[in-house]
Amino acid sequence: MTQIASPQPKVGIVSLGCPKALVDSERIVTRLRAEGYALSGDYNGADLVIVNTCGFLDSARDESLEAIGEAIEANGKVIVTGCLGAEPDVIEKAHPSVLAVTGPHQYEQVMDAVHTHLTPPHNPHTDLVPDAGLKLTPRHYAYLKISEGCNNRCSFCIIPKLRGDLVSRPIHHVLTEAEQLVKAGVKELLVISQDTSAYGLDVKYEPQVWKDERYETRFLDLARGLGSLGVWTRMHYVYPYPHVDQIIPLMAEGLITPYLDIPFQHAAAPVLRAMKRPAKQDKVLERIANWRRDVPDLAIRSTFIVGFPGETEEDFNILLDFIREAKIDRAGCFKYENVASADSADLPGHVPEDVKEDRWHRFMQVQAEVSGARAKAQIGTVQDIIIDGPSDEDGTLIARTKADAPDVDGVVYLTGADQVAPGDIIRAKIHDADEYDLFATPG
Ligand code: SF4
Repeated sequence: MTQIASPQPKVGIVSLGCPKALVDSERIVTRLRAEGYALSGDYNGADLVIVNTCGFLDSARDESLEAIGEAIEANGKVIVTGCLGAEPDVIEKAHPSVLAVTGPHQYEQVMDAVHTHLTPPHNPHTDLVPDAGLKLTPRHYAYLKISEGCNNRCSFCIIPKLRGDLVSRPIHHVLTEAEQLVKAGVKELLVISQDTSAYGLDVKYEPQVWKDERYETRFLDLARGLGSLGVWTRMHYVYPYPHVDQIIPLMAEGLITPYLDIPFQHAAAPVLRAMKRPAKQDKVLERIANWRRDVPDLAIRSTFIVGFPGETEEDFNILLDFIREAKIDRAGCFKYENVASADSADLPGHVPEDVKEDRWHRFMQVQAEVSGARAKAQIGTVQDIIIDGPSDEDGTLIARTKADAPDVDGVVYLTGADQVAPGDIIRAKIHDADEYDLFATPG
């Protein structure tokens, strides 16, 4: 009997927001493909569109609502998921014709909504999904999500309200997923969560067995397990708890990439207290100095908020001094934005927009100096770089050192290399630098 293939139902997916949301999108895509749905790269070719939204800041909420509107106009059949999905009233008020609204990481509900509005293909086994799932990021790096939610209550942040308290994935599941990714060709793992260093707190650091070895569900054991896989491993969103110090020796041994993404948010004690974050800044400087003593090439990335309610000129200058003294190598800076449902909205002393703007520019100037000094110090060194792909200019390749995460940090412009492919790690000699980027040839 000849079987006539029926056309595959096609789903489009729009992914907004942070890398954590991207991981959710990847999971949804993996499920869709596993069930035999095809993916569409544009609205017109799709039978239905899923919009994965971000709801963190008002500007992100506006962008999400706009994206939903655009998808409705272009396609008509839209399912909404993600952070803003935790507030269905907001979405349904703005776009009454959405088919369904689900909250963050509600994969089952997303799939239920897809099944309701787009009949699944007859044979769910026609499309085989690779072991490692499908990734929306390039094949050579992948985000590895270790937990959902957060137990902290930073006053400017609504993530715990949207995503709930910390829920850690079992460590053997995370390590198995990481191993599958590595087997599938991933050369760089980016560990993400809302609060990476709190990993396992919710399950009381429950021990598990992975490859005949005992691992506790905790940050240090996670680093140890990932370090055994032999690829670059970056730790993102690390809250500055004292036990973070324990993974520095793993960096010194070369098991974990010497890179820490710690969102300090501020440095002045009164502002940190108003943010409901740890406020012992002198200890932080001492710890950073110790980390750098043990791992001299450590790169520290951070994010900061300027113009937080109550921030004085003196507080702001303390922040600038901290950036200089701690030599924060890469930093993102945000002007405080009032999110109506955040506790900080009710704080006294809101800073005028022009002052926020001025502080943001001054911050970026100091940051450029610090980052530029680090970049200049790299000139003449030979180091490993990972190839990301071609740049727009002829013959130049885009690569990164261990000090640079994809999308958020600087790049290396590599010339004179042929026969290299994305994901290759090669030795390169750095011969020039600007404030953020490096220029290199194979070395
Ligand atoms: S640690 Fe991060 S996710 Fe958790 S409340 Fe603070 S800013 Fe929000």
